[in-house]
Amino acid sequence: MVETLAEHVAAVGHEMEQYRGGGKVADYIPALAQVDAKRFGLCVLTCEGETAQYGDSWMPFSIQSISKVFTLTMALNRLGEDLWKRVGREPSGSRFNSIVQLENEAGVPRNPLINAGAIVTTDAVLAGRTIQEGIDDIRNTFRTLADDKTIDFDPQVARSEAETGFRNYSLANFMRGFDNLNSEVEDVLQVYFHQCAIRITCKQLARAGLFLANQGVDPLSGNRIISESATRRINAVMLTCGHYDASGEFAFQVGLPGKSGVGGGILTVVPGRAAIAVWSPGLNEYGNSQVGTMALERLATRMGWSIF
Ligand code: GLU
Repeated sequence: MVETLAEHVAAVGHEMEQYRGGGKVADYIPALAQVDAKRFGLCVLTCEGETAQYGDSWMPFSIQSISKVFTLTMALNRLGEDLWKRVGREPSGSRFNSIVQLENEAGVPRNPLINAGAIVTTDAVLAGRTIQEGIDDIRNTFRTLADDKTIDFDPQVARSEAETGFRNYSLANFMRGFDNLNSEVEDVLQVYFHQCAIRITCKQLARAGLFLANQGVDPLSGNRIISESATRRINAVMLTCGHYDASGEFAFQVGLPGKSGVGGGILTVVPGRAAIAVWSPGLNEYGNSQVGTMALERLATRMGWSIF
């Protein structure tokens, strides 16, 4: 008997029950350390608008680095191909907040999904605007893409990010020293810390990322979000660079473009078919959601979803 999408999602969710709580919750700021490690949510949204959800898919979590995909989209829309003069598209092979590589490569970050690269895309989003306008643009982009006006920042997370963001200040100052930031370091980072602090549910995240599965057009509203060629590039960068220093492993195991964040979320794109968002706060040794990755691997296998 052929199983439906809802049945596959439910089956994967049930399989994950025994693993709930696995991994280690990020503890560099209190708001993340306090999250219940046993949470698990999964949402699949197809390009036809079919939704299948499991568990805590309704519960907001901290988007953290997944936001980098969206500021990359915004920066590409503002700067076009010129963005690639300021940021590369190679896996870093280093930690997400590494500064060593930046020195060797004259302040041009390896890719837009590590912190230094995301600070550059944020600078592009901020160009010619006030901090508040930059922050509002990011919030509105999420609200529009997810078709949900309730999406907002967690001010406490944004504040804690700023209080503990010494490495991000180092990266930004370094790049400013190499003339790769146009706005003031403090201004760029205020916007960057806010984008990391977006609160989002699996359902909202799958909805917000659906345009990436449909060549840059939101299939449900019909709106073009970004060009077809830029969409291919975003997906390529997600595949090669979306999982910190375990991006190769994720491509190997799951075979789909994805971006994880230290809040325990992962956005995954199935080109031509669907967007998947999963959330489970416990992280593996590479900073990727342990149970989330496992769930994606099983779902992709069940559905026969892979770009290869
Ligand atoms: N807010 C974190 C930082 O900039 C992002 C961590 C992440 O999800 O990779 O350090």
